[in-house]
Amino acid sequence: SAKGMGRNNFQAYVAVPEESHQQRLALEAKLRQAEKNGELRVFYQPQIDGQTEDIVGMEALIRWEHPELGMISPGFFIPLAEESGLIISIGEWILRAACHDARRWQLRYGLPLRIGVNLSPLQLRQPSLVQVVAAVVRETGIDPHLLDLEVTESISVKSIPNLLETLHALRDLGCSISIDDFGTGQSSLDYIKRFPADHIKIDQAFVRNIGVDPDDEAIVQATISMAHNLNRKVVAEGVEIEQHLDFLRAQGCEVLQGFLFCRPLPAASFDNLLQERARLLGSAPAPSASA
Ligand code: C2E
Ligand code: MG
Ligand code: MG
Ligand code: MG
Repeated sequence: SAKGMGRNNFQAYVAVPEESHQQRLALEAKLRQAEKNGELRVFYQPQIDGQTEDIVGMEALIRWEHPELGMISPGFFIPLAEESGLIISIGEWILRAACHDARRWQLRYGLPLRIGVNLSPLQLRQPSLVQVVAAVVRETGIDPHLLDLEVTESISVKSIPNLLETLHALRDLGCSISIDDFGTGQSSLDYIKRFPADHIKIDQAFVRNIGVDPDDEAIVQATISMAHNLNRKVVAEGVEIEQHLDFLRAQGCEVLQGFLFCRPLPAASFDNLLQERARLLGSAPAPSASA
């Protein structure tokens, strides 16, 4: 499949230890071109309420639809976008697209869906980030309380000037903050305490081992209990099988995300999913000329 080609390509890419400067520049030029040519796509993965199993939101995940290679996953080009600085414009593009889609779906289906958007360390380093987010909220008309900004745990306060102030300013706009990939970084408990996050996203590396490794189960359990005691909600990513679901539910995990429910979908397919939900619930979507 096209996706498989992208993956193999990625393996070839990382297997070269001393990747030449030329190769990097060539790929960077292609990515720049991809952005101009409109080859970047936003996929959406549903987030599910742990109790009701209804859809409560979605995470925006970027893809590169290469004319020959097909759909390329972000693991392949996000690091390059980060190093080259392209992530600034790409990140702003996906933020705007995701807020726009979320707003459209809210108007169409009457569902206040939360939209998760990943922020890269370089974006967090831009003094203009808060203004950019404020402008996107204004332009798209999205309720800022529905915008959840995901920040990976591995970033450190030390390497990003004013990180905590930036996160507080984003929250002052009404946005919520998630700590992504939780458990894979090296945060101290003091850091977690001071980090202004509303949600903790348990990394799939731990979720995957539910039912396999009792140590990972203990980590998941302890993380959920710590998060709750700190008044943070928990999102589990990588929920793939019923056993993961049962365990996470029993621990009171609020939100679930994973292939058990749904893979990331193109915007049109996500719209179909919402339409199907509305049909099953007997609530017809509002007529929409703009959709
Ligand atoms: P992430 O933010 O932790 O996103 C979760 C990843 O797990 C996604 O991979 C998603 O497709 C995948 N996933 C979801 N459910 C399952 C499951 O049940 N099993 C397995 N094995 N995987 C699952 P994806 O889309 O390849 O994205 C990878 C990473 O790329 C993301 O990790 C995020 O760090 C980065 N990324 C994606 N889109 C963006 C973006 O717009 N901006 C930035 N800065 N980074 C992005
Ligand atoms: Mg994420
Ligand atoms: Mg994550
Ligand atoms: Mg992850």
